[in-house]
Amino acid sequence: MLEISGLTVDYGDTAVLAGLDLTVGAQGAPVTALIGPSGCGKSTLVRAVAGLEPTAGGAVRIDGRDLSGVPPHRRDFGVVFQDGALLPGRSVASNVGYGLRARRWSRRDVADRVAEMLDLVGLPELGDRPVSQLSGGQAQRVALARALAPRPRLLLLDEPLSALDRRLRERLAVDIAEILHTTATPTVLVTHDHTEAATIADRVAIMADGVVAQEGVPDDVWRRPATDEIARFIGCTT
Ligand code: ATP
Ligand code: MG
Repeated sequence: MLEISGLTVDYGDTAVLAGLDLTVGAQGAPVTALIGPSGCGKSTLVRAVAGLEPTAGGAVRIDGRDLSGVPPHRRDFGVVFQDGALLPGRSVASNVGYGLRARRWSRRDVADRVAEMLDLVGLPELGDRPVSQLSGGQAQRVALARALAPRPRLLLLDEPLSALDRRLRERLAVDIAEILHTTATPTVLVTHDHTEAATIADRVAIMADGVVAQEGVPDDVWRRPATDEIARFIGCTT
């Protein structure tokens, strides 16, 4: 379980995160969608939780352990950004196995786990394919397989589907929901797309003014927005 408390990130004089609290991955509800207006600080939150952004205050805990001072590569988190950021010039299998080799898994274990992950994301035949020859949707599946391969304690997905066309996005959202609930990996999914949030996430958190303004199961939040600002935001982006 991820517990964020009082998290603060400043850019100059502006607090982009202003004492933000959020808990993700309670029993039976692994996935929280994080939504909010453009520029409200969603990506900043993802980077801060991943350890990629200096924080001015607050704490990030995973399974009760405080992560202050723990460098990104020791947090055991999987991260997927909008563009997937695969290693170019390498095969699909090499990309998916990357984090495993870095953790010194044996060659045999890497091969087994890569095959298992490619099955999971529905690309069992594509291990040898150079990543430059993948479609956008295939590349995002590979990025997800790579992030899940080392059995991360937390998955951070920052608009992983937003570069894809609508039909592909809807299909992938269903698949990703199944994968995340099969693996029961606590996940923060940043998205602009309410349908995607409702498909994949167990809970939604609405960000505004550097904090989580409302958090709950998607239906409740859509039906009973806590403030006029949230109502307007939900209404105007549906
Ligand atoms: P979007 O939905 O458009 O991706 P976001 O919610 O992810 O937006 P962030 O990228 O976290 O927003 O940015 C939050 C605010 O911080 C924005 O006003 C942005 O301009 C500002 N910002 C982001 N990175 C930096 C930086 N390195 N230095 C200064 N300001 C920054
Ligand atoms: Mg962003």
